Amino acid sequence: MSDTLVLSSRWGKPNSAALATYRADGGYQALDRALGMEPAAVVEEVKKSNLRGRGGAGFATGLKWTFLPKDVRPRYLTVNADESEPGTFKDRYIIEHDPHLLVEGIALTCWALDIHLAYVYIRGEFAKQARILEAAIAEARAAGIIGPRLLGKKDFDLEIHVHRGAGAYICGEESALLESLEGKKGYPRLKPPFPAVVGLWGKPTIINNVETIANVPWIVTHGGEAFAALGTGKSGGTRLFGVSGHVNRPGVYEKPCHYGLKKLITEDAGGVLGGRALKAVIPGGSSAPVLAAHEIDISLEFDAVKAAGSMSGSGGVIVFDESTCMVRVLARLSKFYAEESCGQCTPCREGTHWMEGILERIEAGHASAADVDRLEQVANSIAGNTICALGDAAAMPVQSFLKKFRPEFLAHAELHRCPHGDHGWGLTQVTRDAVAGPVRYAR
Ligand code: SF4
Repeated sequence: MSDTLVLSSRWGKPNSAALATYRADGGYQALDRALGMEPAAVVEEVKKSNLRGRGGAGFATGLKWTFLPKDVRPRYLTVNADESEPGTFKDRYIIEHDPHLLVEGIALTCWALDIHLAYVYIRGEFAKQARILEAAIAEARAAGIIGPRLLGKKDFDLEIHVHRGAGAYICGEESALLESLEGKKGYPRLKPPFPAVVGLWGKPTIINNVETIANVPWIVTHGGEAFAALGTGKSGGTRLFGVSGHVNRPGVYEKPCHYGLKKLITEDAGGVLGGRALKAVIPGGSSAPVLAAHEIDISLEFDAVKAAGSMSGSGGVIVFDESTCMVRVLARLSKFYAEESCGQCTPCREGTHWMEGILERIEAGHASAADVDRLEQVANSIAGNTICALGDAAAMPVQSFLKKFRPEFLAHAELHRCPHGDHGWGLTQVTRDAVAGPVRYAR
């Protein structure tokens, strides 16, 4: 299996965020090459690459780009750097360690799609990363790479703005992000129309995740087919997988798209902490359905994880050992989604708080078996009945935890306490804020 690094080859190098470092490593040569190509040829390479969106949905990037209406101008690029899903922490490393890779990816995308204004919507808590990215953009502007003439040689003006969010998870949802960028409350929009047709200020807008865009320079340099060959089937290239929870070496690992989940945990991440047995894994960020220990011998490729009943999502792999109280984990997760619901539609606004309340009662030993059934009914009533995917994101963990670990929920109801005693591990290490601290990158 290929050990090519598309995204993380400069991580850990001295001054990796500096323009000089990037240029010494061949940076911005892809842009130079692309300026000698027809923009449509760049789109064609991305289509050939089988690059799929790395933000969660895994939609084909090249295909998404073709949804822009041909004759409507202006059109915009918005890069989603809101990265707030618990267990997901890879985009921040790209921005922190190699911001010019993202800047070049943006320039290439804008050249390919005839876009002259790009926004990077970055999570408010990423103050350090926002400063690093703003400095890189300023460096690129001062060097004449972006601005009135691309690379100082092509009459094509491009501006990139960094916009900091204010700490709302829902603003990672693409239409809520656009509302927020327009200065309004981050309420998700009804779709269709999709942003590629009616996006920012009503104009066609492509929204791509940071990691997705950071792949474009490699694709232009080496060709779409070479990128496709790094992956498998409909999923080309490598991906960044963030491993957290009960493992010996948590961190961000760049691996081919179809890398094995079991291998990632047992070999790269050093196996389960303290030599304890594995209990469960969430393979793609906290909203992805949980897998039991015996289900992890699968490829992490999008369709393979889907076939196993979960989602590869944002690549956030959360590992739980045998000491984990699954009720406590789910209670913590449900609290997060209840807190982050925007309140715009009833099933999500009411249902997430009902689930949170029922789970608190189950965890405290104040619930009955009927409450466990009620919890499932509420989750089933939310799923598929909301304006945006946050409703599903809240319901799917509940549905899957009950499917895989129902006896543990019933034991809480029967014993009127946690069968793990006071030591059952919750999700405190995998909350949005905690995850930002202790993890480190690794390859
Ligand atoms: Fe808001 Fe939840 Fe409805 Fe999404 S599903 S629009 S977050 S209330």
